[in-house]
Amino acid sequence: MPILNKERIYLSPPHVGEEEWRLVKDAFKSNWVAPVGPHLDAFENEFCRYTGAEHAVALNSGTAALHLALLLAGVQLDDEVLCSTLTFVASANPIRYLGAKPIFIDSDFNSWNMDPNLLEDWLIRRAAVNRLPRAVNVVHLYGQCADLDAIHTICDRYDIIVIEDAAEALGATYKTRRAGISAPIGVFSFNGNKIITSSGGGMLVCKDSALAEKARFWATQARDPADHYQHSEQGYNYRLSNVLAAIGRGQLAKLPDFITSRRNIFDYYQAALGDLPGIDFMPEAEWGKCTRWLSCMTVNEELAGISPNKIRLRLEENNIESRPVWKPLHLQPLFSDCEKAGGRVAEKLFRTGLCLPSGSALTSEQLQRVVAVIKSCF
Ligand SMILES: *Cc1c(COP(=O)(O)O)cnc(C)c1O
Repeated sequence: MPILNKERIYLSPPHVGEEEWRLVKDAFKSNWVAPVGPHLDAFENEFCRYTGAEHAVALNSGTAALHLALLLAGVQLDDEVLCSTLTFVASANPIRYLGAKPIFIDSDFNSWNMDPNLLEDWLIRRAAVNRLPRAVNVVHLYGQCADLDAIHTICDRYDIIVIEDAAEALGATYKTRRAGISAPIGVFSFNGNKIITSSGGGMLVCKDSALAEKARFWATQARDPADHYQHSEQGYNYRLSNVLAAIGRGQLAKLPDFITSRRNIFDYYQAALGDLPGIDFMPEAEWGKCTRWLSCMTVNEELAGISPNKIRLRLEENNIESRPVWKPLHLQPLFSDCEKAGGRVAEKLFRTGLCLPSGSALTSEQLQRVVAVIKSCF
């Protein structure tokens, strides 16, 4: 019997407050209601300080950031770009914007991220026939870094540029480094469901100031330095607005607390549900600290006696939002013509996985509600 009078619990809703509101009002008062202004500059600087990035360019989405990252990497028509298969579609769409071909690499079970062994096998085979990819887009899934050192060692051997899609992993660490800054180029998202949000927005970070300058140039319609409007290159309208940067600044200041909350939520679920038959949680790889952007569990239907989808429907009956793990991109009709390396691990995680409500504002009453519904399935 559905209990719809209960307030809805969302998967990962925005968590904004007075501080963001104060900064937005400041943007209005100063009349910097434009894709430039003091909050934009400050957001980029504060983002560099927090992540340890050398240069940051604030953009209007993570997808735009990835598009420019691929352009900076020199990706062109008919190039091949390797990409994690277990991810959101936006990790691969920009590859297609450039007329290049994504090739999907499976995950490993340790981190749910790109398996460096499969990557290595692929590059060895392609080097032998002189068909190496132009770039590798490594996704850090659900707040956890991929094995960056292993991936860089392999890619350096073939002189292939790595891009970090850290859209889901702002604040995560790999050894002593933050997500997104090990590769020459990294991208982040501030979409409404991410760990911090500017309602919509993204960031491109890079080590080389010339690359950052180029990204800024492309993001603002590629205007040549001239008094009149002159253009020698194709540009884009990708800059973040100063108003949204103000929201982003307020959010960034709270990021350490948000990470603590999300990790506590994960720990609560794991303690409350981890002993149920057939239930496991996304592992934390030994090389870093996961932000637990989303709390993900897997359900072995044989042991649990119930499928993850039935649990999801039961939560929905109780007005609680949960979601399957990303459908691997190699299974998407959109990419049915693409090559892939492996795929079984991501397929299994998709079949068995469930993402639970993970918002940093969740109350203990709400968490108890989620846990009670899941327990009632057993
Ligand atoms: C959210 C997300 C993106 C895209 O970011 P937007 O800001 O929504 O454009 C890219 N990659 C991954 C892995 C994401 O989760």
